[in-house]
Amino acid sequence: MATIAELKQRFRQRDRVVRVLSLDGAFRAVAIKNTVVAQTAQQRHGLEPVGARLLAQALASASLLASFLKGEERIVVEVHGDGPVSTVAAEALQVGEVRGYVEYEQEQSNGVPLAAHPYPLGRKGLFRIMRILYNHSEPVVSVVELQPGDIAVNLEYYFERSEQIPTVVQFDVTFDKSGFISTSAALLVQTMPGATPQEIYAVEERLRVLPPLSELLASGFMPEEILRQVLPGPFTVLNNTPVDFFCRCSRERFKELLTTLSYEEVQEMQRLGHNELVCHYCGERYRLTGQDFAEVLQRIQARTN
Ligand SMILES: [Zn+2]
Repeated sequence: MATIAELKQRFRQRDRVVRVLSLDGAFRAVAIKNTVVAQTAQQRHGLEPVGARLLAQALASASLLASFLKGEERIVVEVHGDGPVSTVAAEALQVGEVRGYVEYEQEQSNGVPLAAHPYPLGRKGLFRIMRILYNHSEPVVSVVELQPGDIAVNLEYYFERSEQIPTVVQFDVTFDKSGFISTSAALLVQTMPGATPQEIYAVEERLRVLPPLSELLASGFMPEEILRQVLPGPFTVLNNTPVDFFCRCSRERFKELLTTLSYEEVQEMQRLGHNELVCHYCGERYRLTGQDFAEVLQRIQARTN
């Protein structure tokens, strides 16, 4: 049996996203602690710190944006650039599941070590936000040009360009000596049309003196308490959701996917011993057995007959 103190401690350590609206409607804000999510992603994909940091930021972005959605609605945040980290992608559901991956450019020709690279995502490319919503038959996609910088820079630019909402985004991803993520957190603050210049100034001031998010978390602040440091007035909590790195892939889903290939293609895969399928999103490996291949071939045959 856990003691009340232990339960309380566990509750505080849980990854969580909290979205609030100030009572006067002047600001909306979201804070997230996604340390365990970011650590899990780094471990599953075996990432060095530069990729791990960008992925932690993308995962946090997806969860922040998903907190505005409903139930199983989901959001995909994707960056494709001409830098050494060529793709960063994260997908989150409002219910708290989030997953993501990073791709590296194969030829790192100029010899600059990744950690010293000024723009690991590159200077040219695309920043894409896709929303899969209940009342839309097609995903709602917005794309802006990649801005040199990290994901915070791009997310702010996206809100300014696509949604005309002044937005401040802060990420804090810290590492231990061995290059493993020790904290990941993020904050998003948006000014609504009704905000007065005095109110805007007050929030800007508070953001300016706000200690790093990792320090706040280390001293026991939860996302809601961090938001209390940022917004001067009272607010309503609209969403408070635990967040987990979770992927819905399964052996069955992969087999279903294989049935979209031709009979000959699947036979060829089996003949060449290409029996290991790796989930891009979570790094899970599925080794297909002879029985799996037989089932897939049978389903293809049933479909084509
Ligand atoms: Zn997966």
